[in-house]
Amino acid sequence: MRATALVVGGGIAGLAVARGLLDGGWEVQVRERLSGPPDIGGALGVWPGAMAALDRLGLGEEARARAEYRSTLRLRRPDGRVLLGAEGRGGHLVSRSALLDLLVRALPDGTVRWNTPVTVADLAPGRDHDLVIGADGIHSLVRDTAFSRASPPRPLGSVAYRGTLPGGVGRVTEVWGGRRIFGITPLDAHTTNWYAALDRRLLTETELASRDPDVHAAVLRREYAGWYPDVARIVSGARTHGVDRRTLYDLPAFGRYAKGRHALIGDAAHAMAPNLGRGACESLIDAATLSRALAEEPSLGRALARYDRARRGPTRRIVAASRMVNRIAVTTRMP
Ligand SMILES: Cc1cc2nc3c(=O)[nH]c(=O)nc-3n(C[C@H](O)[C@H](O)[C@H](O)COP(=O)(O)OP(=O)(O)OC[C@H]3O[C@@H](n4cnc5c(N)ncnc54)[C@H](O)[C@@H]3O)c2cc1C
Repeated sequence: MRATALVVGGGIAGLAVARGLLDGGWEVQVRERLSGPPDIGGALGVWPGAMAALDRLGLGEEARARAEYRSTLRLRRPDGRVLLGAEGRGGHLVSRSALLDLLVRALPDGTVRWNTPVTVADLAPGRDHDLVIGADGIHSLVRDTAFSRASPPRPLGSVAYRGTLPGGVGRVTEVWGGRRIFGITPLDAHTTNWYAALDRRLLTETELASRDPDVHAAVLRREYAGWYPDVARIVSGARTHGVDRRTLYDLPAFGRYAKGRHALIGDAAHAMAPNLGRGACESLIDAATLSRALAEEPSLGRALARYDRARRGPTRRIVAASRMVNRIAVTTRMP
């Protein structure tokens, strides 16, 4: 009889691990509470390690075909002065929608059950799965239920805004201006992707509580007034093209990523500040690493221990580094 796995969550991590498990001969069910993948739009930087993970899952070629490749990054001051210009080994940029679409289409019909939240009762001991993978994001139910030492996510003290607008852009630019950053990247040849992160203390409580896109747009216009012309152009168009706003958190360390028949991957294991653009990348590497360990080790216990050994150290270091960059760039006043 084939071993069975329940994957909780149909985001980047859950969809990718399902592909890897199917390749290893597992019977897999993914349960996602939403009616489709969690597409919050925008572009994702896919670094070389994550592209190698996609290769291991048999999806690298298609991902490359859908990606923009950018090997240059300009770091600027708000007046446009270049602080740093990096050439060389760069990453691919792929739209989140394109990556999710590719991952969904890589699974046989019926593997993912949309609109099907997993509950605490579904996770009770004795339920009929050999393995339960928590790929259920930063507020993971699997983590809360099966990993008693885990603490809740902690606020980073910053908020992020992002959106897209028509028109191509040539390179990746990030502007650092003291408690605020603004980033501009291509989404595809015809669309610009932008993001902003600010110290939350720059906003009033009313602005922080508001879900009104007009309020978000007004905050952006105020906080980025007088910045480098490319930023000013995007900020002035923000209202017409929609803005996504979220408060940022990361996840404190809590010990092993595997316990009993449970494993955590992606943001459920190591949600991080977005400043290094690594969260989705590390989710893909988790998926490929866990799938390979399960295919190669003779027992579930050894496979999960190998996954934990391979992934906990590196991802905790990236959580710490991302937190530090968030603090330096966004929540500390620059001279
Ligand atoms: C502003 C911002 C910018 C970012 N930019 C980048 C970038 O450039 N590059 C990069 O690599 N990363 C980036 N990231 C990080 C990246 O978005 C995440 O790390 C990644 O999406 C995590 O994927 P995941 O599948 O682990 O979690 P999620 O995407 O959170 O997916 C979890 C899924 O589980 C589902 N779920 C939750 N609970 C249940 C339940 N009980 N039952 C069923 N389903 C459930 C949810 O509905 C969701 O669909 C960014 C993040 C932010 C906030």
